[in-house]
Amino acid sequence: MIIDIVTIFPEMFSPVLGESIIKRSQDKGLVKIKVHDLRRFSDDPHKKVDSPSYGGGGMVFKVQPLFTAAEKILGEDIFSRKKTGHKSRIILFSPKGRILKQKNIRKYFKYERLLLLAPRYEGVDERVRKYLADEEISIGDYVLSGGELPTMVFVDTLVRLVPGVVSDKESIKNESFEKPLLDFPHYTKPAEYMGMKVPLVLVSGNHKAIADWRKQKSIEITQKRRPDLLKG
Ligand code: SAM
Repeated sequence: MIIDIVTIFPEMFSPVLGESIIKRSQDKGLVKIKVHDLRRFSDDPHKKVDSPSYGGGGMVFKVQPLFTAAEKILGEDIFSRKKTGHKSRIILFSPKGRILKQKNIRKYFKYERLLLLAPRYEGVDERVRKYLADEEISIGDYVLSGGELPTMVFVDTLVRLVPGVVSDKESIKNESFEKPLLDFPHYTKPAEYMGMKVPLVLVSGNHKAIADWRKQKSIEITQKRRPDLLKG
């Protein structure tokens, strides 16, 4: 899978993409991530990519740099790609988008290439949303200063699910939202610290009893904290 990110702050991505699981996924050749500076695609002599909102207000990302970036990066004609059952998906990050959920992440595996647009300021000219983006994603009901963090959140959530990226497949299966339940509590050594003890069952060596305990705890925690996940 190839992931292209379009941003005006490419340097913000290096610390996240160059560490840990995301780095390993690229080293193993499972994912290729490219970060593009939007300014490079601007026709403006000063490489400007934004302009004031018509009617008043803050700055808005202009149509031209984003359309040119998408066309050059994907190598596709933007107006015909929607008709031809394309293998790429253009995603725009916005608080107005559909909320990102774990249960929807794997659907992106069917695309060979994802183009992620990370705006700033007031967001993008509406024509980008209407005619360029295939979908708009929000990472929650709050407003951040830019699309860089939502893009990184999306990439991290996606990449760790790519088969082969996380070596312990079992740990993914038990994670919060996978069943859909919240994860059970975890403990590690020592078995007792300042009088605080690990539940006996976890040090019993009885695998069936441990599995039952974990399942029970997952259900209890989900019922208490996120009963909405159990509906249906
Ligand atoms: N004027 C926009 C509004 O009220 O909906 C907010 C713009 S915000 C300051 C700038 C950019 O940050 C957005 O265009 C979007 O790319 C990103 N952003 C902020 N909050 C976000 C969220 N919850 N989910 C996804 N993207 C977000």
